[in-house]
Amino acid sequence: MIQRDYLIVGAGIGGATVCESLREYDPKGSVTLVGYESALPYHRSRLFSSVLAKGDPKALSNIYCHPPEWYVKNKIELRLETLVTQFNIGRRIAVLNTGQVIEFRKCCLAMGSRVRRPQVAGANLGKILYLRSLRDLLALKEMIVGEKNIFIIGGGFIAAEAAAALRTLGLKVTLLCSQPALWQQWLDPETARWLTEFFAAKGVPLLHATLNGFEGKTVLRNIQTKSGDRIAAELAIVAGGVEPNLGLVANTPLGSPNGTPVNDYLETDEKGIFAVGDIALYPDAIFGGVRRSEHCEITLEQARVAGANLTGKKRQRFKALPHNSCTVFNLRFDFVGDFSQAPVRYEIQGDRDKPPFTARYFQGPKLMGMLLCNSSPEAVENAKAEVILAHKH
Ligand SMILES: Cc1cc2nc3c(=O)[nH]c(=O)nc-3n(C[C@H](O)[C@H](O)[C@H](O)COP(=O)(O)OP(=O)(O)OC[C@H]3O[C@@H](n4cnc5c(N)ncnc54)[C@H](O)[C@@H]3O)c2cc1C
Repeated sequence: MIQRDYLIVGAGIGGATVCESLREYDPKGSVTLVGYESALPYHRSRLFSSVLAKGDPKALSNIYCHPPEWYVKNKIELRLETLVTQFNIGRRIAVLNTGQVIEFRKCCLAMGSRVRRPQVAGANLGKILYLRSLRDLLALKEMIVGEKNIFIIGGGFIAAEAAAALRTLGLKVTLLCSQPALWQQWLDPETARWLTEFFAAKGVPLLHATLNGFEGKTVLRNIQTKSGDRIAAELAIVAGGVEPNLGLVANTPLGSPNGTPVNDYLETDEKGIFAVGDIALYPDAIFGGVRRSEHCEITLEQARVAGANLTGKKRQRFKALPHNSCTVFNLRFDFVGDFSQAPVRYEIQGDRDKPPFTARYFQGPKLMGMLLCNSSPEAVENAKAEVILAHKH
């Protein structure tokens, strides 16, 4: 049996950053980082710009958290292409798909998310892509060569980013969305409409329809909509959201349907077992209640805190305002605060057609969130301070 001081499950940005942070406080403890993918830990948020970048072979190297030497130098045993198949909480044992067993003193779970697949006919046909990993993006890059008619199904961040990236390459792209406007679940109706028109002006129309299924013998031929239309399509990208990767801890207290519950220190009820990133269901110190984020900024901040706390040499609370950013065409959007409910009232500062502009979203008198478009980093920091101030008791 292999014995380790620290086991980190999941080699995404969460897992890699936990290793980085714990090494600051414990330079000697033995660490194993296990990840199912074959690539070194990388930033998924950089996949579109790096993998699809035209004619820049160096762009891909920008995605990695660290070069391979970093893991060697920092004595992080990195086991790629390896799945943790069993996790015994009581005995502090993890079984790998290689048959090896790791006994650990402390652990951080960082298994991230997987793409939610639609429960419709034909969802497994060829030429239907689900984008999560570097491998998925490399496959997309190969498959778009010569494609004339690409449909992106969804209306959220990944759908918008994929559409913008492919359109920038000169491809014909259509968004098929069950809502009439992009990002409608987060924005005020006018801004969502403006963004949808902006996409249309860039050559990406939005077709307001609900997916009913896919047709084709082995590869996609048509997309069926709930209203009975059959639309010819050569390639479809399904971007209908993600769900936390909790199979490993299913049916245990660490695998509640909405994430792995952790306290303010990102530790679970099982002492010495922490969770970060897309799977962590954490107490929201600013808005109250519990929250799970599916964004890289929060993952990175959690991993820095959990890595330090794992060592026992530091005890930090995790307190961060929800924040994420998304770049589409020449527009960078920063979402600062809570966008989980449609705003009751909103105020726009500036002109949407001449960014920068800012939208403030309110529930009653309370400022809940701010959307900033093409604003400076200082303006984003000021927006964070403004939202936090509005929630000081
Ligand atoms: C294409 C794309 C673009 C994105 N763009 C943005 C953006 O612009 N802004 C933003 O804020 N967020 C963005 N995100 C979301 C962001 O990437 C995630 O929030 C972030 O990656 C979460 O990090 P994580 O470490 O928790 O999980 P992940 O990055 O999902 O990594 C988890 C890793 O654990 C592995 N794993 C799972 N189970 C096991 C197991 N049992 N054994 C071993 N390994 C396991 C998985 O294979 C995976 O490699 C994007 C995501 C995608 C897919």
